[in-house]
Amino acid sequence: MRTILGRAGLIAGAIFLSDACAQAQEWTYEGEEGPEHWGELSEDFAACGAGMMQSPIDLAGVNARGDVMLAMAYGEIGARLPENHHTVQVAVDEGLTVSSAGETFRLLQFHFHTPSEHVFGGASYPMVAHFVHQGEDGQLLVVGVMFEEGEASEQLAAILEAHEDGAEALSVDAAALAPAGAMYRYMGSLTTPPCSEGVHWHVLAEPQSASAAQIAAFEAIMGENARPVQAQNNRLLLGPPD
Ligand SMILES: [Zn+2]
Repeated sequence: MRTILGRAGLIAGAIFLSDACAQAQEWTYEGEEGPEHWGELSEDFAACGAGMMQSPIDLAGVNARGDVMLAMAYGEIGARLPENHHTVQVAVDEGLTVSSAGETFRLLQFHFHTPSEHVFGGASYPMVAHFVHQGEDGQLLVVGVMFEEGEASEQLAAILEAHEDGAEALSVDAAALAPAGAMYRYMGSLTTPPCSEGVHWHVLAEPQSASAAQIAAFEAIMGENARPVQAQNNRLLLGPPD
């Protein structure tokens, strides 16, 4: 259940992550407990079906352009790989942050989806990493980093190796995985139940590279774990300058 998992003490504010963690209700990416049915599986998942600001969306629906101001204070950090049935999750030690409009959000964890959840004109990337941050008031900010097939990534290699070895601790360089650059921004939701809204989404425009073998290795562990694209509805979607 724990795609989004903070330390218990951090869980506060508008988005009740703790409910999601305590939830016994199982959900999947296909069949009767798949994305089309998430909203019916539990009262707590109602936003998955009825929400009007859901994620992911098609980023081709840009309706404004400009520079997104997000200061990313990323670097090397200690991490763990907590058990998670839906994704490969890397829970990081305290210390990395991003800042937006004067507010600081702490990086809690990042995790992966194959293929990407956000798409561009219907086309997905083979993989995406979501960096999940929480602000002082409990609000969530997620930075999405697309991966395309190319050179192998040292950081992904370290994560895969730790996963295979069942290693409890590793060190990752978040700045190497998610270098700052032009991005898309809009208000959306968690892409897994309970699909809570109010999430500040930022998706980097420039993909990073991973080898075909690395992408295949993540997919072998996670399966297809991408929620289908949701309606943009009446939302502002800011894209990078032309
Ligand atoms: Zn995600």
